[in-house]
Amino acid sequence: MATVKLQHLRKTYDRGKTWAVNDVSLEIANGEFMALLGPSGCGKSSTMRMIAGLEELTAGEIYFDERFMNRVPPRGRNVAMVFETYALYPTLNVYENLAFPLRSMGTPEAEIQKRIHDIVAILQAEDLLELKPANLSSGQSQLVGLGRALMRQPNVFIMDEPISHLDTRLRSRMRSYIKRLHIDLKYTMLYVTHDQEEAMALADRIAIMDVGNVVQIGTPQEIFHNPVNMYVAGFVGEPPMNFLECAAEHQNGSYHLTYKGSPVPLPTVAAALAQKQALPRDVVVAIRPFYIDAAHERSESHSLPAQVFVVEPMGDSTVISVNAAETRMQIVAPPEMRVKDGDHVWLALEPSRILLFDKQTGIRL
Ligand code: ADP
Ligand code: MG
Repeated sequence: MATVKLQHLRKTYDRGKTWAVNDVSLEIANGEFMALLGPSGCGKSSTMRMIAGLEELTAGEIYFDERFMNRVPPRGRNVAMVFETYALYPTLNVYENLAFPLRSMGTPEAEIQKRIHDIVAILQAEDLLELKPANLSSGQSQLVGLGRALMRQPNVFIMDEPISHLDTRLRSRMRSYIKRLHIDLKYTMLYVTHDQEEAMALADRIAIMDVGNVVQIGTPQEIFHNPVNMYVAGFVGEPPMNFLECAAEHQNGSYHLTYKGSPVPLPTVAAALAQKQALPRDVVVAIRPFYIDAAHERSESHSLPAQVFVVEPMGDSTVISVNAAETRMQIVAPPEMRVKDGDHVWLALEPSRILLFDKQTGIRL
């Protein structure tokens, strides 16, 4: 296993005409599980292929531990990669498929047997060993594919959207296999996904990419609670963060926030900024759906009027979509909450949970 250091990676295709990765710098600790999260087309796979040596760098440097890797061919890097789809050898049973990578390296048979034994135990795939690929479900083939990638004891283990094509239930089961695998084997792992929930559930740290750039690196907690900008804030969390474009007004020595004339509580974080008179006029108030309370009656804290658009009873909670003037917001309410579409409600935003962004730059204040 190795630490992976990426310095200012850049990748363009077609002699500079298509540009995939602009500037990616990352350090992944030995044994760490890092997720690379971003929408389709933001340059995740290009970054992974550069690490694996499958793609030349346009610029930048890659190190495994302190070793400069740019000119090391894929074979010499010992990177195991799992993609969304990969082929198992159809004529070989699962055992032989797993054995294949090691056989071709001349590993002794006893060692191969032991490795297969260990890996199928982790994956709980003992029953599959005799089966041919044609007799495996898509989830089982994915397990075997994972197992095969693990046989070689790689320096770095890369998974590029390995489970995104599976159905929801299978995906969440595979997710826990993958997490358990990391706990047991402690490989340095890089996991590529566009699914924020997957990244949050799996990773020690997440690197979030916008087109071609890493915009924030942090633990799932940090990314969730302390997003550096509106892009990150909006990308992570389900239902997503609510954004309200508010005006900050300085009156009688103190600041007030309003949304279309309705008062919005001044978030805890704003006090310090207000004191320094560092609050811009146009701010965006951001708050997660769990931190809004909806009520039929107005109270002192319920200051924002809204009308219910749809109600989604989820069983353990109720998701209420409302229109507050021109902004659609979502609220996660307790299941006992009785509301129906068309109802007029009042919203209370929990001041300690409000994040503030500069409307002009999108940067967190
Ligand atoms: P992601 O994995 O995040 O979806 P990719 O790294 O696959 O992103 O792609 C980033 C950008 O580079 C996209 O605009 C894509 O069309 C382009 N791209 C990727 N691979 C190639 C290639 N081999 N030739 C030309 N353009 C490519
Ligand atoms: Mg991709």
